[in-house]
Amino acid sequence: MKITETCKEYCIGCGLCHSELKTGMDEDALGFFAPQFGEDSRTEEFLKQVCPVTGLHSDEASEADIWGSRRNTYAGFSTDSGIRKKASSGGVITTLAIYLLESGQVDAVIEVAGCQEEPYRTEGRICRTAEEIIACCGSRYSISAPWMNLRELTEEKLRYAAVGKPCDIAALRNLKNTGEYGNILYLLSFFCAGMPSDRAGRTLLEKMNCNPEQCVSLNYRGNGWPGMVTAVDKSGHTYQMEYSNAWGGILGRDIHPFCRVCFDGIGLAADVACGDGWYLSDRGEVDFSERDGRNVIFPRTETGEEILQAAAEAGRICLEPWEDISQLKVIQNYQYMRRATMRTRLLAYRLFGKRTPHYPGNRLKQLSGLVSFRQKLRIFLGTVKRIMQGRI
Ligand SMILES: Cc1cc2nc3c(=O)[nH]c(=O)nc-3n(C[C@H](O)[C@H](O)[C@H](O)COP(=O)(O)OP(=O)(O)OC[C@H]3O[C@@H](n4cnc5c(N)ncnc54)[C@H](O)[C@@H]3O)c2cc1C
Repeated sequence: MKITETCKEYCIGCGLCHSELKTGMDEDALGFFAPQFGEDSRTEEFLKQVCPVTGLHSDEASEADIWGSRRNTYAGFSTDSGIRKKASSGGVITTLAIYLLESGQVDAVIEVAGCQEEPYRTEGRICRTAEEIIACCGSRYSISAPWMNLRELTEEKLRYAAVGKPCDIAALRNLKNTGEYGNILYLLSFFCAGMPSDRAGRTLLEKMNCNPEQCVSLNYRGNGWPGMVTAVDKSGHTYQMEYSNAWGGILGRDIHPFCRVCFDGIGLAADVACGDGWYLSDRGEVDFSERDGRNVIFPRTETGEEILQAAAEAGRICLEPWEDISQLKVIQNYQYMRRATMRTRLLAYRLFGKRTPHYPGNRLKQLSGLVSFRQKLRIFLGTVKRIMQGRI
């Protein structure tokens, strides 16, 4: 039953086992989901085949570079200036979703949006119009469980696209690979550095002097790139904080335990995965100054490449080849280092008797060769320190 225990400990709460097996879901004090798995063989088989904690990710070919298998690497953005401004980066995910809907390739898009009663939480949505998709636009640095009631909410005769975090998409891809959900045709994802707790969301609001009970809207970024965190309370008062302070000082410090040992923050199982395509300064450093948003875009499947090309031909997105792939090491340094040092982190976990997700050893070893011994030692000692302090 080891796999069940590991899945229980690291359950990210995508909700698929609740949807498919009717697994009970508790919430812990931080708002994270805690599944109540039965000791039956059906549950264990399901988890082995589907749960992202098992490390089952499609298409992680060993010959691929650290960014994983993909057909191309693009820079791009939405040609709709309103979406580009509102979106998290360049609005490519939102625009692709709208394009798929309006070109008749899907009937609806499965997404999450801010929860109306508690805006630092999210709720699942089935979007059937462009307006509904635009309402989901933007990054929500909060707990999301996009597949929690998937079976109930979707109809077999309808075709869908689905947007989720890399772990959500890995789970859904794994389940699709068993022959289920043939009607979910397109999987879209984004780069993800971790899912903050409800506590982090409330702390963020308090630090902004916005009473969480009075908050009616919270945007973590967007309305520019990266834009400000912006909260509004019932009296219409607006509170703001720099996005970098919010992530670096509050949200990024209080993420789900699985996110600390996640090997896929880059949407390996998606048809299309997008991240921030930050610009570099003349000195070769990441330039976070405000400007029009831009995505780095990985079409990871033939389907992903096709829909990107079609959306570009239809004039919905601007797409150009990302010429210098080596820039990604700087632009997405967190993702680079996390993948390259995952073997080292897991080693520290195991030395202290902690359970770890199951990842392919060869790939961990291969990527570990990209960083120096000194860098690995630093990560190892930092992980050991956090374990000893009880912070992991
Ligand atoms: C938790 C989190 C961590 C992130 N970490 C990184 C990172 O390390 N590096 C990086 O480059 N970018 C990160 N981002 C930002 C995001 O990957 C980029 O902005 C990406 O380029 C998407 O931009 P876009 O403009 O195309 O998205 P948009 O067009 O704004 O669309 C965003 C889509 O994401 C969905 N979404 C938002 N939040 C959630 C959520 N919590 N769960 C499920 N779906 C959600 C929305 O429903 C919408 O469909 C993170 C975002 C989140 C939510």
